[in-house]
This record gives sequence, structure tokens and C-alpha cells, in this order.
Amino acid sequence: MSSLDKLTDLYNRKAFMSLLAKAVKASVNYKTKMALLVVDINRFHRINSVFGYEAGDEILRKFAVLLKAVCRQQDHVARIGDNTYAVILDGVMNTGHAELAAHKIVAYLQSPFEFGDKKITVDCTIGISVCPLHASNHLFLMKECESVLHEAKIANRKIGVSSTPEEDVIPDDFDIELAMGDAVQNGELLVHYQPKISLDSGGVVGAEALLRWQHSHRGLIPPDYFIPIAERTGHIKPMTYWLLNTVLRQSAEWTDQWGPLTVSINVPPDFILMPDFKDSVNNAVNLWKNDSTNICLEIIERSLVMEPEKSFSALQELRDLGMSISIDDFGTGYSSLSYFECLPVDELKIDRSFVADIVLNKANRNIVKLIIDLAHAFDMEVVAEGVEDLKTVELLRKLGCDIAQGFYFAKPMPNETIKSWLLNYGAPDSYRNSSSILMP
Ligand code: C2E
Ligand code: CA
Ligand code: CA
Repeated sequence: MSSLDKLTDLYNRKAFMSLLAKAVKASVNYKTKMALLVVDINRFHRINSVFGYEAGDEILRKFAVLLKAVCRQQDHVARIGDNTYAVILDGVMNTGHAELAAHKIVAYLQSPFEFGDKKITVDCTIGISVCPLHASNHLFLMKECESVLHEAKIANRKIGVSSTPEEDVIPDDFDIELAMGDAVQNGELLVHYQPKISLDSGGVVGAEALLRWQHSHRGLIPPDYFIPIAERTGHIKPMTYWLLNTVLRQSAEWTDQWGPLTVSINVPPDFILMPDFKDSVNNAVNLWKNDSTNICLEIIERSLVMEPEKSFSALQELRDLGMSISIDDFGTGYSSLSYFECLPVDELKIDRSFVADIVLNKANRNIVKLIIDLAHAFDMEVVAEGVEDLKTVELLRKLGCDIAQGFYFAKPMPNETIKSWLLNYGAPDSYRNSSSILMP
């Protein structure tokens, strides 16, 4: 009995703290997440002074019933202060899950409580902290949650959530695989596009599509981090099909406005040999009334080494449909010159690790020159990626490179931004002023 609050029959603070300690321990041991909500009824003393203590007690009881109604059977609800409640939500997927419960509480409070013939409107502020994201000790978690609650009150917000510091955007315990399963469905994936510029004319020839994952609480998760995991877990398949459809739909809009622009899509290594890949791409092209000649598929050298012959014929089939093929990160793999002449490829993309310092590093400059000459000997175009300054642009042009891509021209940007970027594109100022350097 001593663990219950007499007025509401909920757990009291003491009992709640020992439940919280257990829940935190389990969450840490079993690598699951649990959320703590602290809920405070705002200006409660006003209810007491306007409607009387009896009404106040009735509201506290009704509020307890409301919280129990919002929570699941396994959750624990307590009254931990005069007008303060707390809830343990076990086994949540992420902070968003807990926010959902908080929003539900806020929504329920839109209808006033009845006391006799009076209607009493109550509002509350809710703090949310998740173990182990925000603390992995029950006392710290409670302190953290009470402090976000306090901050939310001052800022006049109904819900305050502990923030995850920027530098731990992706802590080790982040259940990335679990969250990844929902990323497509939750609309958390985005595509950014980075323009590709002809070093000959200075004009835009196309753009590369680059995947982004905007996680609701983790912020923008970089592809270098999540794509290898997606490849390992199989999540890459729905992601790539989502990407294909999104890119073909969005890039069809550009072509209507600016004429043909190639859009480059990164294709994961296993896809080339998947029996349904060719048809999936083709169907997406038709669905979005795009044109297969506007599509360039970027693959890395690693995709070809396992079964070169099968891969070559799969690539040739894609080319027969009108698409072009690019070898990405060229120079980092083990392409052998012996199979170079049968490589059904239209473009080589020089890895940015070589491009970055060609101005200062003679060895890399020689490698870049070698790749350019090799590509031209086999009728392929060459793209230099990671071009960050004008000196590199000038040198690449001197070495005979066809196309450049990099921060010097533009960073990857969302579809809406690239549409206006294309509209305004002359070239960066320095480029425009020194156009003689670039124009033939
Ligand atoms: P990548 O295919 O080599 O893409 C080029 C990367 O270089 C991009 O990084 C781009 O933002 C970055 N970059 C472009 N210009 C510059 C520059 O001037 N300086 C520097 N330092 N970096 C520059 P991002 O978008 O982070 O992508 C990283 C990698 O993730 C990509 O490398 C690619 O391997 C993979 N990736 C990105 N999007 C996709 C996708 O849609 N599908 C697959 N399978 N992989 C993707
Ligand atoms: Ca690429
Ligand atoms: Ca690359």
C-alpha cells in the first residue's frame, strides 16, 4: 500500500523511482530503449483557488485515469508530486514513439474535465527523455527529463524533448538497422543533386543523385555511414527502388524545362547481376515518362570483378536500352587493363582522392593524366569528382578532362534548389570572369 498514492491509486514517487531504476537497467542490459515522460499540470493552484480543493482533487484523479487510458498495459504511471505525474514507456523504438504518446495526452486534454455542472479546462507540459540516448542512470534520466520539462514551460511549449548532442548524431547504440526498415515508409529519404559541368563549354551536362537520410531525431545521416549497412542488411533494395523512382520523376521535370540533362544514379554492386534490375529501371523510366538516354548508372569497379563476363553482358543490355554506364571511384579498385577494351562503359569517374591535390601532388597529377588518356583511347568520357577550386579546374582542363563535379561549382542540393540553381546558372563568379581560361 505504501507504494501507492492515496488520491489516485497510481504509484507514488518512491515506488516509481525503483521501477524506473529497474527499467533503466533492463534497457541498458538488453539494448532496448525506454522513455520517461514527466507530465506537469499547468497552473494547478488556479484550479484549487477558483473551484476549490474538492475540484482540484477530482481533476487529479481524472488526470490519472486519462494517463492510464493513453498508456499501454505494460507502461507504468505514477503521481510523483502534487500536480506532477510520470510515465515509463518500455520498449520504444525512438524518441518519436514517446512524442506520439505525449501528443495523445495533449490531444485528450482538449476536452475539458467536468466537475458537477462546471467544465474545467486543464493543460499540461510534458518532458521526454529516452534511455540510453539521454542518460543511462535512473537519477540522471529523471533530472534530465525534469529539466527539459522546465525549459519547455519557460518557452511556453507543451512538449520538451531531450536533445541529442550534434557530435553524437550517430552513437553506437543507435539502432540503425531497425530504423532503416522504416526510413522509406516514413518518407525520411531525400535525394540531393550535384551538377556536372562540361570543362569544354562550361555548361551543365547533368547531375548526380545522392541519397540522404533525414532521421527524425538524428538529423541528416550521411550515406557513407548508412549505405554500407543497408547493403549488408538488404535494406538497400527498397531504398534503391525508391531512389530510382524519385530521381526519374524529379529529373523528368528538369528536362521539360532545360532540355536533356543526364542524371547519374549510384547503383550498388549486387544490382547489376539481379535478374529484375534491368526491367525495374526500364519500368521506372516509362512510368515517369523519362528518357533512358538521360540516365547514367554509376557502378564501382568492385561490381565487376566477381563475374566480369556476366556483368559485362548485363551492362551491355542496359546500354542497349539507351542508358550510359559510368565507373565510379575509378582508380581505387583493381581494374585490369586486359579487360579494359571489352568494358561496356561510357564514362570513367576519377576518384576524388586523386583529384583533390593534383595542383600540388605530381604523382596524383600523373595518375589523373593516365586515366584521362586511357579513357579517351577507349572512347570514354572522363569526369573528375571532388573539384574544389579554380586552379584544379584549370589544370584538369589542361589535362584534357571532359567533365568536372565538385563544391567549386555546387554542393549537392535538393530538387527544388537545383531547379532554381539551373535557372540562374551562368557559372560561379570567378569562373565567369575568367571564362577565357575555360572556353576553348
Ligand atoms: P560518390 O558516389 O563518390 O559521391 C560523391 C561524393 O563526394 C558525395 O558524397 C559528394 O557530396 C561528395 N563531393 C562532391 N563534391 C565534392 C567536393 O568538391 N569535395 C568533397 N570533399 N566532397 C565532394 P556523399 O553524398 O556524402 O556520398 C558519399 C557516397 O555515398 C557516394 O560517393 C556513394 O558511394 C554513396 N552514395 C551516395 N548516394 C548514393 C545512392 O543513392 N546509392 C548508393 N548506392 N550509394 C550512394
Ligand atoms: Ca557516384
Ligand atoms: Ca566517388
